[in-house]
Amino acid sequence: METLIRTLTGSREDEAAYREAARIIQSGGLVAFPTETVYGLGGNGLDPTASRKIYEAKGRPSDNPLILHIADISQIPPLVSGIPEAAKALMEHFWPGPLTMILEKAPIVPDETTGGLPTVALRMPSHPAARAFLQAAACPVAAPSANLSGRPSPTNARDVLEDLNGRIPLILDGGESEIGLESTIVDVSGPVPTVLRPGYYSLPRLKEVLGTVAVDPAVFSSLKEGERPKAPGMKYRHYAPKVPLTLVTGEDKARAACICRMARPGKRTAALIASDTLPLYGNASDLLLIPLGSRENDGEIARHLFSALRNLDRLGLDEVYSETFESGPLGEAIMNRLRKAAGFHIINPQETGEDHE
Ligand code: AMP
Ligand code: MG
Repeated sequence: METLIRTLTGSREDEAAYREAARIIQSGGLVAFPTETVYGLGGNGLDPTASRKIYEAKGRPSDNPLILHIADISQIPPLVSGIPEAAKALMEHFWPGPLTMILEKAPIVPDETTGGLPTVALRMPSHPAARAFLQAAACPVAAPSANLSGRPSPTNARDVLEDLNGRIPLILDGGESEIGLESTIVDVSGPVPTVLRPGYYSLPRLKEVLGTVAVDPAVFSSLKEGERPKAPGMKYRHYAPKVPLTLVTGEDKARAACICRMARPGKRTAALIASDTLPLYGNASDLLLIPLGSRENDGEIARHLFSALRNLDRLGLDEVYSETFESGPLGEAIMNRLRKAAGFHIINPQETGEDHE
């Protein structure tokens, strides 16, 4: 199958591309589209065959459920068994935007879309191209991130093409995703709203709106043998570059010195760092320094993280170290992705030994 790319301009000329995308969705096919978080791979979420095609194109295990994307609140009632107060509050404060809610599903939502779960994930994105596409599609669009399973999520059309060329008929190219990390997922199907995946909206922000909010343990650490996370996707290997990645925590100077010691002639070593700490690395000639952005603006670090992780494998490296970025408002979301990318391999040069979380 040939994969076409339609570049969106934000003008009326885009309407032909949205009509083409809608035709594909309505005939059971798949379209990759931009959102404010990452690019999605969409199909008709009420058509079990379309959902199966999504799993197949991504190489994704079929027990890892998909998120239904909608253009309008009026699409919700037929999809769920009821709308709890917490869901109403989340919609009012955070939609359209980078937040996904888990609700009890109605029978119309096929098991193929929810990975057999009795619940369904819903999101109303804010990206103008995503909204125009969803309106044209005129159905709830099931869409996970548009990457091959296990790879970093794509934040531009080129990264989608790298993974899915020949596997899908159409990519809508809306430029770089502004946020660059996937949506915050909040489960409101039980008695206490629970964060299943951190994202752009932080825990304190959610607590302002919801009061009590719990956090699923799978957010912080790798799962023990036999443990089941509430968001099935959290149990799979994620975002991992092929080159081994180690996170280095601790005080800035000690950390930079530790990373510099790791780099030796004859070994190709890179480091993901904050632009603020660049001077601490001096002229470390055996170390490729990759600044992600300033800690003063961790939105920049979030936006560049996935494309930087993808790039690592294009550079022919032997090993990569990364600073940690827990301090800013997006710290938890960034660290959740980095810990997974590193397989939870974290060292602190100020402590003895290594810490495997
Ligand atoms: P992706 O869109 O690729 O970020 O993947 C969707 C994420 O949403 C995965 O981590 C899923 O496990 C999670 N998800 C989707 N539906 C549900 C659900 N009904 N209950 C819990 N997690 C879900
Ligand atoms: Mg994904």
